[in-house]
Amino acid sequence: MLIQEAVYVTSNTDYTQCPAPDLPEYAFIGRSNVGKSSLINMLTERKNLAKTSQLPGKTQLINHFLINGTWYLVDLPGYGYAKVSKEEREKWERMINDYLYRRPNLLCTFVLIDSRHEPQRADLDFMNQLGENGIPFHLVFTKTDKLKSNQLAANLDLYQRKLLETWEELPPLFITSAEKGEGREPLLEAIDTYN
Ligand code: GDP
Repeated sequence: MLIQEAVYVTSNTDYTQCPAPDLPEYAFIGRSNVGKSSLINMLTERKNLAKTSQLPGKTQLINHFLINGTWYLVDLPGYGYAKVSKEEREKWERMINDYLYRRPNLLCTFVLIDSRHEPQRADLDFMNQLGENGIPFHLVFTKTDKLKSNQLAANLDLYQRKLLETWEELPPLFITSAEKGEGREPLLEAIDTYN
């Protein structure tokens, strides 16, 4: 898919304030610092569409970008940042869950996982919750350039085995590096098949 146009539209805390749900929409989410902004910039081939390296946990907004005038890419605030208060965490959960469960045009959510780490409870819990609520998702492994190929393979294998303890089937998996521009086409193709 050629990205001819990528335009920031709005940021909201309330899903009812988001743009009219008249175009297909894809959301990106993951733990703070997972590489979400870098991935969004890589996908759209824009240097600063999503802001990278902001203070973790600071952006608590649902950010809409209009791509090629035909679909929305949604940058959701990260989770799992230790320094966030219980109150803020609950606020995040309400906002994200309302959005994920009630947004009628949300076709798929991409859950980002830092390929360097072994499976983390926060990610597994988040995926289980999506599954229990019937929200389709794909898994995106990030920062794969930081690992040697044998180590990446071992981490991916471990992750898949962990998922299969709970899930009967694995979700589609994508291997990406924003640094190297890897995994861009398969991700955009996956979006294209929904569009
Ligand atoms: P976000 O908080 O999830 O939006 O994460 P960012 O995109 O801001 O990235 C967090 C940090 O990881 C930054 O220092 C990025 O430069 C770095 N990073 C993100 N993606 C990659 C990648 O694919 N490879 C490498 N080596 N570093 C990355």
